[in-house]
Amino acid sequence: MLNGKRALVTGSTSGIGLGIARALAAQGASVMLNGFGDGAEIEALRAGLAKEFGVTVLYNGADLSKPDGAGVLVRDAEARLGGVDILVNNAGIQHVSPVEEFPLERWDAVIAINLTSVFQAIRAALPGMKARGWGRIINVASAHGLVASVNKSAYVASKHGVLGLTKVVGLETAETDVTCNAICPGWVLTPLVQKQIDARAEAQGVPVEQAGRDLLSEKQPSKKFTTPEQIGDLAVFLCSGAGANMTGTSLTMDGGWTAQ
Ligand code: NAD
Repeated sequence: MLNGKRALVTGSTSGIGLGIARALAAQGASVMLNGFGDGAEIEALRAGLAKEFGVTVLYNGADLSKPDGAGVLVRDAEARLGGVDILVNNAGIQHVSPVEEFPLERWDAVIAINLTSVFQAIRAALPGMKARGWGRIINVASAHGLVASVNKSAYVASKHGVLGLTKVVGLETAETDVTCNAICPGWVLTPLVQKQIDARAEAQGVPVEQAGRDLLSEKQPSKKFTTPEQIGDLAVFLCSGAGANMTGTSLTMDGGWTAQ
């Protein structure tokens, strides 16, 4: 379905971004991966995806905390893939602390990666999408783009910001064949969440499995993790013809979290 399309997925060496990159590659899109990790493991991942799905898979390890990291990444993807038709802004970090103890340096890092890099990537990719007459921008926000939790001031602010940005870009591109939407997952068992489960197990002196169950039952009525594969399938849907008139909106995959 996506043969000939070129996708850039930020933060795709792990977790949700990798799930989305796999789903797009499985539909025939060529993909540029981005994110941190061990060089040999990333190369094995890149080559494995290319072989499994018979598509071009490239990698650029741009650091999105840098002021123009995302711009450099988009320009490299355009040069090496020939264009960026699908931009998935997924890279994100978390820091957990009460607001009055929240280090400014962590606040700046969360905002830079979770929000400013999304703006920078969209700004860089939009002219090419408009010129070619087709584009899909998918921002991975969060249930925390819609509701808040304690101790996550920067994350919640950044994700609310991403939803605002998604609406503006959706409006600014409304008369074109470019759409811009956000996916809002609840808990997904990735390294980002595993860290929070491990910290919780340690703080409460309970086994890690129990800490995971407690985390789910506090927020996510389904008591099941959303999977990177499910999020990948939603991204594919947004790239399909069925998604052509969906723009500026946010789609939850949160097991009922934000319905409460
Ligand atoms: P993860 O930690 O597994 O993956 C994050 C990815 O971003 C990795 O590839 C990492 O290398 C990359 N990354 C981090 N800092 C970067 C930087 N400075 N420059 C470039 N790449 C960088 O996390 P995840 O859980 O897969 O999260 C992906 C996205 O989904 C994030 O935006 C996160 O906020 C969002 N999200 C996650 C959950 C969840 O429960 N896991 C829920 C809602 C939203």
